[in-house]
Formats: sequence, structure tokens, C-alpha cells
Amino acid sequence: MEHAADYAAEIARRRTFAIISHPDAGKTTLTERLLRAGGAIQMAGQVRAKGERRRTRSDWMTIERERGISVVTSVMTFEHAGCVFNLLDTPGHEDFSEDTYRTLTAVDSAVMVIDAAKGIEARTRKLFEICRLRDIPILTFVNKMDRESQDPFALLDEVAGALALDTAPMTWPVGRARDFVGTYDLHARTMNLTEEVAQSDPRMAALGEEIDLVRAALPEFDRAAFMQGSLTPVYFGSAIREIGVLDLLDALAAFGPRPRAQPADLRTVEATEPALTALVFKIQANMDPNHRDRIAFARVCSGRLVRGMRLKQVRTGKQIPLHAPQFFFARDRELAEEAYAGDVVGIPNHGTLRIGDTLTEGEEVNFGGVPSFAPEILRRVRLDDAMKAKKLRQALQELAEEGVVQIFRPQDGAPPLVGVVGSLQLDVLVARLRAEYGVAIGYDSVPYTVARWVTSDDRAALETFVAANRSSLADDLDGAPVFLASSAFMMRRTEEQSPRLTFRDIKDVH
Ligand code: GDP
Repeated sequence: MEHAADYAAEIARRRTFAIISHPDAGKTTLTERLLRAGGAIQMAGQVRAKGERRRTRSDWMTIERERGISVVTSVMTFEHAGCVFNLLDTPGHEDFSEDTYRTLTAVDSAVMVIDAAKGIEARTRKLFEICRLRDIPILTFVNKMDRESQDPFALLDEVAGALALDTAPMTWPVGRARDFVGTYDLHARTMNLTEEVAQSDPRMAALGEEIDLVRAALPEFDRAAFMQGSLTPVYFGSAIREIGVLDLLDALAAFGPRPRAQPADLRTVEATEPALTALVFKIQANMDPNHRDRIAFARVCSGRLVRGMRLKQVRTGKQIPLHAPQFFFARDRELAEEAYAGDVVGIPNHGTLRIGDTLTEGEEVNFGGVPSFAPEILRRVRLDDAMKAKKLRQALQELAEEGVVQIFRPQDGAPPLVGVVGSLQLDVLVARLRAEYGVAIGYDSVPYTVARWVTSDDRAALETFVAANRSSLADDLDGAPVFLASSAFMMRRTEEQSPRLTFRDIKDVH
């Protein structure tokens, strides 16, 4: 490598993370404050896209507004303290667990935002479990300290108890609720205050006592334990008053995980390897309805991406030209001239790229590991205008590739079914079909409630089963057989009668 040192340094300064929280804890506010704290970014060799396109609002954003939830996952890039931050936004609503799961496969760390009054809530716990499954190190931000809140010691206890996680406070709140004025850095032993506080102020006396107690009773920060995911450093603050936000950002810069090594089928790929590898973890169609675009979001896992490269799509062996990879900055996007391990780029394409695709410079290596979950709700799509059948077929294919819904084509030739994990996805499908494809649909119920992917090491047994159960079998988007049962009871019975087959509720893409 000509510039091996520069290259390693570029990767070392990447911080790719997500924020996980329960709705209302303050994720959106914290995101805005982080973007504001971090400067707008202008990396070397980057050019502004012509006409500076803004993401236009489409109909599914109306759903988002009406329901007050964030349906869209996007990536925001900004710079601070010499680091390049890629913040991947995870949808806040529980209906979108699959999308969230995929996003969390693409980050190196997560910031867990907790409401200081409410502590650990259901959604936080769920997302935390996903992070733990993936060994993702977590920093904790206790938000809304400007309001009546629980005692910080009690909160630390609650986090530790509820999540079986050591908590190491890194800062300590100065004053509480309306008198909250800033943080004390327990390591640097410095104050970060929004207004001057006299030494004689009762808040200072209280702080002194609490700090003694913290040092005597609570765990110290241990980076190895943090990297293993068994300890979380904790920061106190108020996103809305911009207190504690810089503490958090500086911490990510100072000791937040760099781009991690990624396990693949044949070997583990180190981020600092020179050859480029990337994983497609999200597809988003029609972000800009005027241009009918389709963007595949890829995380660069190793090496350096340069505009104009041709990459190999390992699943098909096809060559994918990178004419116009893009970076995203809140609402703007720009052409990316180059990107490094840890970065997320958008690759415009017309349906070639799929979720779970690995891209390489030629190596046959596959990350996979982006699973699908069995749907909990199955419906048949009812088309109001029969003239639009062809359009509907294409639209369903595109939206299924994007992961909005799953599509199941019955082997007996009946019209396709859609499957979703949460019912909100059904509304999103209706809205997007109408807004983006001009197709109006409704739903009919079906006699199935359970879907399981069927596999077997015994090919003959699988073929026999398929031949005997055609009316209960459907093919998924990739042509993999899925067994449909009317109830959990029927599903169990079929499993008992088919000992050579495996019925799965999670499917890895490759
Ligand atoms: P999200 O649902 O997690 O994205 O939460 P939002 O960022 O939308 O915040 C939810 C509500 O809490 C909004 O009304 C915010 O203005 C408010 N909020 C966010 N951060 C703070 C904070 O630090 N202090 C107070 N008092 N309110 C906050």
C-alpha cells in the first residue's frame, strides 16, 4: 500500500453507531444535538451533488408524522474531534424490529438513551438484547436530567439489575431538575457547567458527597469490559438543554470502538485489510419519488471504496459498477469519492442488490448474517383495479426486496400472500403502493397464522414432503419453501410427523 499509514488512520477515526431507546426518551433530540455539535462534514475529494437534492417527503413520511414515529432508517455522517461519525438511525417503533436488527448488524457501538424519570423501558430492553447478541459495546446516556428524575444511584442500580450489566458513571450531574446546571467529569475532575456556580452553593456540597460515594461504591471504567459488552459507561445530561452531549461525543471519539472485524463464512475479515468488502444491510426505494430511485445501503467492512470501482456481488458473481455512491448528511446527500471501512454508502441500483449481499473486489467471501423473521401476520393482497395486476407484481417484488413486507407465492398457483412482523407494516405497504406506484389495495384474511421455512439435510425427505403438502407450501422471495399452518397446534403436529425436516422461524439470507 502506498499510503498504508494514512489508510489505517482513516479507518481508525471512524465511529459507526446507532442510538437505541424507548419512544419519547429523547433519541430525536439527541440526534439533532449531536449533529449540531459535530461540524458539517467536508471530506477530501468530495463534491456537492448537482442541484443539491433534498429528500422529498413521501406518503410513508405522512404515516410517520401522523403516528409520531420514525419509520425510516437513514444514516447521518458528521465530524468531531478528528473523528468521522456515522450515525445510523434505527426506527423507533416496535413493529420494525427486523429493520432495526439489520441496522444493528452494521454498527460498531450503540448509545442507549434512558429517560431519567422512567429508567429502563420495554423497548430499550429489547434493543439492548439485540446488541448483546451481537456483542455491541454500549454507552449509556441518561437524558432529561433537567426534569424531576430518579436518584442517579438508583438509576445506575436499575440499569445494572435490569440488564445484567456493570455500570460505570463517567460524569455526575451537578444539581437536579430545574437546578441541573451541568456535569462533573469523574476522570478529568473538571466541571462542565452552563452557568457559574459558587463554591458555597449547596449543589457543590452535595456533589462532593456524592462523588465520594461514587468512588467508594461504583465500578471504575474498564475498557476491556466495555468492549466485551459487560460494562457500560454512563453519562448524565439533558439533550434539550445541550448538557452532557459533548461528554458523550468526546467519549465516542476517545474510546468508542473502531470499525470491527466482521465474521464471514470462510474467515473473519479485518477492517484494516486493503481489499474492499461491503455488506448491504438495507434497501430503500423511492426516497425521492420524483426520481424513482432505489438505494442499497452498504457498510464498508474493510478497505477503501473509490467511486468508479467495479465490485463483485458474491451471491450472483455479477459485476456492479460504482458510478455514484452517496454519503448522507441528515437531509442532504453527496457523491462519495471515497469511503473507508466503517462508512455507510448508498448505492443507487435497479433491483440488482439485495439485503444481505456481500460486495468484494473479487474474493468469494460472504458475510450473510442478515436474517429474516417469520411473519406473525399473513394476508392476501386484494387488488381493486385488475388492470394493475402487472404493476402490483412488480411493486410487491420491489418492496419485498426492500424488506417492507415478505412475499410468499403459494405453490398451488394461488395469488401471493404478504407477511409482516407487525401490523403497522401493512399500513405502510398500502400507503407506499398508492403513493409510489399508484396502486390501490386492500387485504383479505387467509386461513394461515404460522409460517416456517422448511429445510432438511435429507433431500428425498424434503421432496416427498413438498409433493405431499403443495397446498400448504409457498415460495419466499428467494424461492425457499415455506410451510403455512392454520395454527400453532397444526404446526407442532406437522413438525412431530416430519422428524427429518427442520422448521425455522428465522432465516439467514445466505
Ligand atoms: P424520541 O421519541 O426518543 O425520538 O424522543 P424525542 O427526541 O422526540 O423527545 C420526546 C419528548 O421529550 C419531546 O417533547 C422532547 O422535546 C422531550 N425531550 C427530549 N429531550 C429532553 C430533555 O433533555 N429534557 C426535557 N425536559 N425534555 C426532553
